[in-house]
Amino acid sequence: MNGTLHAPRCRSCGAPLAVGVVDLGLSPPSNALTPPEALGRGETFYPLHAFVCERCYLVQLDVFASPEELFRDYRYFSSYSTTWLAHAEAYVKEMTQRGIGANHRVVEVASNDGYLLRNFVARGVPVLGIEPASNVAVVAREAGVPTLDEFFGVALAQRVRGEFGTADLIVANNVLAHVPDLNDFVGGLAALVAPNGVVTIEFPHLLRTIEGMQFDTIYHEHFSYLSLVALQPLFARHGLEIVEVTELPTHGGSLRVFVAPQGSRAIDPSVGAVLAAERAGGLERLDTYVDFGARVAKIKDDFLMFLLDAKRRGARVAGYGAAAKATTLLNYAGARADVIPYVADKSPHKQGNSIPGVRVPIVAPDRIRADKPDYVVIFPWNVEAEIRDELADVRGWGGRFVLAIPELRIDL
Ligand SMILES: [Zn+2]
Repeated sequence: MNGTLHAPRCRSCGAPLAVGVVDLGLSPPSNALTPPEALGRGETFYPLHAFVCERCYLVQLDVFASPEELFRDYRYFSSYSTTWLAHAEAYVKEMTQRGIGANHRVVEVASNDGYLLRNFVARGVPVLGIEPASNVAVVAREAGVPTLDEFFGVALAQRVRGEFGTADLIVANNVLAHVPDLNDFVGGLAALVAPNGVVTIEFPHLLRTIEGMQFDTIYHEHFSYLSLVALQPLFARHGLEIVEVTELPTHGGSLRVFVAPQGSRAIDPSVGAVLAAERAGGLERLDTYVDFGARVAKIKDDFLMFLLDAKRRGARVAGYGAAAKATTLLNYAGARADVIPYVADKSPHKQGNSIPGVRVPIVAPDRIRADKPDYVVIFPWNVEAEIRDELADVRGWGGRFVLAIPELRIDL
């Protein structure tokens, strides 16, 4: 990168990135909400522009900030989500059934507060967590999960291999998309995994992102948007290959890929099946990505027209669910408190803050019951059914639910 002409390159294969997929304009980092004491100050906005690599089809954002800036004091504690705790427990049970036991070593990259590894600890399996957010790593160690607070890559992998030994299982759930240097990370996996070991990696599936028009999952901490088509050459570069794939319902449709040293295991038919679905879905054609961008712009226009029309008619609108998805959509649409006065959220840690950038206040869900708005916009479409249940009384006063994605829907 130089100061005058910015020419991004693919973070996997190094080819120049020239084909834009979707340009969501400028947006503040979505991992931090704006606290009341910061309302009098400015905020830094960064470009949110996704490209697709013409050579390897990796969809990716240009680098804008250092990982230290984004993840060193990460506030997301996995143990706060009961759904994730259950997901982790089910995963550990499955790996145990596949033969991982007390005579094996398990390493988890981005191990958070140890919510997953503690299930292995309880079964007497030696574990090591790697979690760069120091404040989170402390919590893991206090819970009895040995944890290094460092960034994972080739250098750390070699050190861990020397001190802890090779890993029979490396767990890398929902971390690959957040990795700035993919080759250093995957090179680290290759250096640490035992010759007969396996790495499991979970990530939101780009095929589902495109099919479901889930463009609000594009935010700064998500550097890469992954498919088997794009991952195969990345792993092959480091002597690894995908040997099995499981489809998961998490994050609007995720994959768990099992990755092993090349030639060490038979390739399960699930790999060919998912690859065929990706090809049928057009993931090896550039026009698929360009078309996605055009449809995203239409969804934004429809959502904004709805908000403006409601305001002009004097109808009242509330939002629900102050997740990163809301930050992306509201900033992309330029929708501020004059068209959507607040977003309710049941997390007390979020209430009293504002959505960054657009500065829409976050309030307790009781506010919706007191106000009885005409429309409630649901931002986290992945838990739509749960929210409709929680807010069932909205229908009682004639309120209607609105979803912007995959296309504008207003309850009848
Ligand atoms: Zn590439």
